[in-house]
Amino acid sequence: MEEQLRPIHYLDHNVKEAFEHFASQLSQVRRAGISKATIGIELTEDEEPARTPVADLNSNLIKLNVNHLSYVWTCCYFFTGMQDLYYKAAMQDKPVVILEQTPVVNKMNHTFYWGRSLNSFHSEWPSNTVYPSSNEPYVEGANTIFLYAVCYLMFHELGHLVLHRDLTQFIQRVKGRYYEKTIDDVRRIRNMERQADSYALDCMLSTASDDRQRYMIAIGAIVGIFTMFYSLQNTDIRGGTHPDLDDRLKLVMKSIKLTEEYHSIHMQATSSIGLQTFLKLTETEFRPEGKNLSYADFKELEKDIFDLLSDTKAKYNQRWPFNFKPE
Ligand SMILES: [Zn+2]
Repeated sequence: MEEQLRPIHYLDHNVKEAFEHFASQLSQVRRAGISKATIGIELTEDEEPARTPVADLNSNLIKLNVNHLSYVWTCCYFFTGMQDLYYKAAMQDKPVVILEQTPVVNKMNHTFYWGRSLNSFHSEWPSNTVYPSSNEPYVEGANTIFLYAVCYLMFHELGHLVLHRDLTQFIQRVKGRYYEKTIDDVRRIRNMERQADSYALDCMLSTASDDRQRYMIAIGAIVGIFTMFYSLQNTDIRGGTHPDLDDRLKLVMKSIKLTEEYHSIHMQATSSIGLQTFLKLTETEFRPEGKNLSYADFKELEKDIFDLLSDTKAKYNQRWPFNFKPE
């Protein structure tokens, strides 16, 4: 019998190629840092729930996991479709954009909800959903965004391998089962995470030669961060040992300067649509008091959502202050 390959393997080669392409475009110093460490990629396949990529400081491997990649792909697919439908609806100048339940929308939802379920338990890719190899609307766009999003996540891990080699002992200590982290430990880990985020953006942006490429990197990073938002079951976006998710998103929005207005509007729209989707998934009402729901642009809308998320964080901190504010 022929071996059954999981649908996400369709893109294995492209992921490797895209990562190597970015790596080969880096400055000499950065390339030297990578080649000195002989960094490799390991793709694991098992029947465990999706695990986010990790950097193994002992083996120098960036470990990816098939269920997680499948989940990321369903996010990319959903995003591509959402964006298109959103623009089409916005063109009709409706005050509130509601996506009609069409066969395409149903398929998008079905595929995305299955992808999300991989964060809780493993199941095979259902035959009635859309695949990376499907000949369907939005798949080609999804496959492209997927490569950028996965590269962003991989470059974050690469950042740990390149920047945090000297901290192996510290990391092992704080990861110990019976070790209780101090406030300083948490601050230190958060800083490392922020450094890895910046490293990923800096590296990828340094390879871009025009606005279009910077824009694609932005979309990949934004969608990469939204994969973290969408794996949550509630609005607690505080990162614990990681920076809070809204702060990670803000870092991307702030770091990437696009010159073409067309691109910057699309970047803003992607962030705003992504945030609205998160509110919808967590059943959070979004009706800022005393405000009408018409916004001049995506930026204004996004600001309101960020404010809402900050308020939510403050409430979580009051009720459940396990978290530490960044310095
Ligand atoms: Zn990290």
